[in-house]
Amino acid sequence: MTQHAKPSSQILHDGQAMRFDDTAVAFAHRSTGELKRARWMFGLIGAPWLVKLGSRTIDLAMTLRLPIGWALKPVFDYFCGGENIRESLSTADNLYAFGVQTILDFSAEGQTGEHALDAARDEILATIQAAEGDPRFAFAVFKVSALSDNHLLEAKGTSAQWSETEQAAWKKVEQRVALLCSEAANRGVRIMLDAEETWLQDAIDGLAEAMMRKHNQTGCTVYTTAQMYRHDRLNYVIGLEESARKEGWVAGVKLVRGAYMEKERERAQNAGRPSPIQPNKAATDRDFNAALDYALSTLDHLNIVCGTHNETSTAKLAEGMVAKGLDPSDPRVTFAQLLGMSDNLSFNLTHKGFTSAKYVPYGPLREAIPYLIRRAEENTSVGGQTSRELTLIRTELKRRKG
Ligand SMILES: Cc1cc2nc3c(=O)[nH]c(=O)nc-3n(C[C@H](O)[C@H](O)[C@H](O)COP(=O)(O)OP(=O)(O)OC[C@H]3O[C@@H](n4cnc5c(N)ncnc54)[C@H](O)[C@@H]3O)c2cc1C
Repeated sequence: MTQHAKPSSQILHDGQAMRFDDTAVAFAHRSTGELKRARWMFGLIGAPWLVKLGSRTIDLAMTLRLPIGWALKPVFDYFCGGENIRESLSTADNLYAFGVQTILDFSAEGQTGEHALDAARDEILATIQAAEGDPRFAFAVFKVSALSDNHLLEAKGTSAQWSETEQAAWKKVEQRVALLCSEAANRGVRIMLDAEETWLQDAIDGLAEAMMRKHNQTGCTVYTTAQMYRHDRLNYVIGLEESARKEGWVAGVKLVRGAYMEKERERAQNAGRPSPIQPNKAATDRDFNAALDYALSTLDHLNIVCGTHNETSTAKLAEGMVAKGLDPSDPRVTFAQLLGMSDNLSFNLTHKGFTSAKYVPYGPLREAIPYLIRRAEENTSVGGQTSRELTLIRTELKRRKG
């Protein structure tokens, strides 16, 4: 449903700064009507008191099983592809018309019971099948916690003795992960494992490393995720690359800053343990950017997805690629953002020939609510400042008015 012609792409030259302020490029895929609705929505979710009140009301409404879908539908439509893969295909088409690829992200959080975990595995399998041989899709992705009870993941990271039932349940988790990765490899689809809370992550790291060693012998199919808000992760990424180089495989890493900072700090404090999180934002930024630099000089054994909405890091990587004489479309580097966020990055990147992809979450509206609340919280105004998204949308609407 695009009303604007696809802008012709341009090349970024060495020494030139990567800019993301071209809102005509950023929003070419959105009609004026859509942008006006988005302006209204971001204006509403920009008020912190309303988001707080909204989150509590939604929690209560969910507990009481009240029908609140109609109220959330505009937010759902902006940040999610739809309720299923079929409904998400028009989003994938619209993004791909401007060169931005899709990463179908089945939103299932906190599943329990073997039946629900198998159903989640089958749904993720369907995203792999959908991506096979289809250039609209960049990767498949999953959260290991969608395939395992959290208590198992947590216990796996400790030396606790397991019952036979727990051992059998863990075997099934390993089988689900192994099946998804080998299906992805057999179908030529790259696949990422998301990173989660530290108390689950040791188990996830073990699974991801085994899958990378198995499937990344000749190229990079399986990618793990490193959260650079953890003070140990820069060394972890370097260690992965060193092992890959020594043993002759390719490490795949999605670099992110990390999404669970408050939870992590609170849990460490309650347990009287030092926090696994960096002391401040500057330290997180420093390690994130250091990991980008490290990857740029070791791409033969470390392929990356740069998962960020941070403009400085995104520009740094794009400019770094050009400075090293790499083709912007080098498949060893992908930029990624979330649907409905930082379109100025995604579309200006593809406009300059870089590869960028959007996570397109999908699933029943009810189950997407925690995800939507996180997006709303991210877009509330800090210190009275208009959110980045709203400022960009206003600029583009003004430009279209002429
Ligand atoms: C494509 C994609 C995939 C993602 N996948 C995952 C995933 O698998 N796992 C996951 O955990 N997250 C994931 N995220 C979310 C990501 O971790 C960040 O929460 C989010 O992108 C915001 O960080 P930023 O780099 O975009 O922007 P910025 O606004 O520059 O950074 C904000 C981030 O900086 C860090 N930070 C903020 N304040 C402090 C402080 N005082 N001290 C230390 N650090 C601080 C936090 O990580 C915070 O989220 C993903 C994001 C994207 C775009």
